[in-house]
Amino acid sequence: MRALLFERFGVENLRVVDVETPRPGPHDVLVRVEAAGVNPIDYATVTGARSARPMPHIPGVEFAGFVEAVGDHVSGLKTGDRVTIYKNLFDGSCDMCLSGQEMFCRAGGTIGVDSNGGYAEYALVPARNAMPVGDRVSWELAASLPVGALTAYHALRLAGVSPGELVVVVGASGNTGMFAVQLAKMMGARVVAITSKQWLRDLGADEVVDIDNAKPVIERITGGSMADVVVDPLGSETMSKSIKLLGINGRIVTFGALTGGELRLSIREIYSKQIRLIGATGGTRRELLDLIKLANEGKLKVKVWRKYSLDQGVEALSNLFSRERDGRIMITP
Ligand SMILES: [Zn+2]
Repeated sequence: MRALLFERFGVENLRVVDVETPRPGPHDVLVRVEAAGVNPIDYATVTGARSARPMPHIPGVEFAGFVEAVGDHVSGLKTGDRVTIYKNLFDGSCDMCLSGQEMFCRAGGTIGVDSNGGYAEYALVPARNAMPVGDRVSWELAASLPVGALTAYHALRLAGVSPGELVVVVGASGNTGMFAVQLAKMMGARVVAITSKQWLRDLGADEVVDIDNAKPVIERITGGSMADVVVDPLGSETMSKSIKLLGINGRIVTFGALTGGELRLSIREIYSKQIRLIGATGGTRRELLDLIKLANEGKLKVKVWRKYSLDQGVEALSNLFSRERDGRIMITP
């Protein structure tokens, strides 16, 4: 099979190579990859900010495709099934798995980081990571559920969004942001999208504004009570501004630090408004099931900017932080 892989860290070292197509072990499935997302986690894997194994390594954390072959002990899946892949490797038996938090499995890891991923014609995954999706879900959407949508959904659930609340999504046009907007809207919230991209209105945003002009807009639509929840995956550059958008009992939820991981924090600002700072990471299989159901019902959309072939892998990864980017970058093997 053809695979996009690297032997040494660095985006420029990605190349397409013919490698042996893996064979499923008794509990595995072989997936014919139809679409794979490009995420910051893939960039970090390729550039060596995270360890990668095995080496040479095929990256690609987020992908979907057809089941091509199943192991002897696999039940419930068959050749030809459409599946999306839960990214966290998990044993199903530790205390974290038993409490439904597979992303914290004590023996865990991440597909595409701790095993070969989806930037290839075929990918081998444990059968319990392959989750069926309906025929009507596009491959681009199916491949956006396990990271983009799931991270946003898990974060919003931890923040506890109630109907009528005001949710602000920072980085709303990003991989997770576009889903945070849609999901917050479905939870009954009013949504302010922090971005310059007007297409977020089509996904349910009530207001679209950049962060430096957000305060008066939020004051106006809340009558001064300000935001209940801010979702901020960007980090240092926006976080202090994001906290200032919150009202009394506000929650700020973070799951990324793309612009830097350090923060100067006004403790007085936190306690005087009883603000809660919430960390979120990944999501559970149960939550991914919810998202698959929403996708099957036609309630989720993905905005794709560009699709690249495996041969264009360097360009696909390089464009992740491009100013021009306007939606998701996908690799379609
Ligand atoms: Zn476990």
